[in-house]
Amino acid sequence: MIDNPEGMNTMKRRPILAGNWKMNHNVNVTRDTVTELRASLSDIDDVDIVVCPVFTSLAVAAAAAEGSVIHVGAQNVHWAASGAFTGEVSAGMLTEIPVRYVVIGHSERRQYFGETDENVNKRLRAALDHDLIPIVCVGEVLEQRQAGETESVVSAQIAGCLDELSKDDMLKTVIAYEPVWAIGTGVTATPAQAQDVHAFIRKRVAQQFDKAVADVVRIQYGGSVKPGNVAELMAEPDIDGALVGGASLKAADFSALVKAARS
Ligand code: PEP
Repeated sequence: MIDNPEGMNTMKRRPILAGNWKMNHNVNVTRDTVTELRASLSDIDDVDIVVCPVFTSLAVAAAAAEGSVIHVGAQNVHWAASGAFTGEVSAGMLTEIPVRYVVIGHSERRQYFGETDENVNKRLRAALDHDLIPIVCVGEVLEQRQAGETESVVSAQIAGCLDELSKDDMLKTVIAYEPVWAIGTGVTATPAQAQDVHAFIRKRVAQQFDKAVADVVRIQYGGSVKPGNVAELMAEPDIDGALVGGASLKAADFSALVKAARS
């Protein structure tokens, strides 16, 4: 499933399936959903499973997930340790909860809150400094794809977001390729479309770091992934998992998706 026939076939990358709950689920629903997920996925030990609730539900999610296969992630992090940054949360504060993962540079953050590759890079480095595992999102909008600019857009995002990372830090970082036109639209990239961009991202990581690093880095696909299409996406050699919005909100759906991803 995750062997790469193009010279990477000795490299096993552990799949990672992450649910981005966006601004959904209050404390009670979060607790119930994590509790249901931990019960239905308790026997799964060959993939990383992550849920990313809103900040106010992180503590209850972490408590409900404790000692289980479910990991908890935040949806953003600020680069400063503390200070006059109203509405932001630092990496040190997340590790206190404790949180293990953090999504950085989601297209909704870029689109609605003006996040740039430059400040994504700062957030990423703060996360790594605190031993959080970052999931860094990149991806083109529809007009860019239609104009044939997907590779140049993603390439610039990779260069900016991953600037000045050490090889060690890159090895810990997860990349999520999320074509913006596929997020929340019900339109999924075809496995071939997604694989093309994943292979391109791996090549770009090899250029910026080296091939050994690129062989290990996990690249998730995100954009209308569901239980019914995750297996065909994951069958592609450079797709190592999924970042899932809508289909991660209900425990039954996300659990079915995780199970389907392993088939
Ligand atoms: C996302 O929020 O990152 C996402 C991919 O959403 P959806 O699965 O709903 O398209």
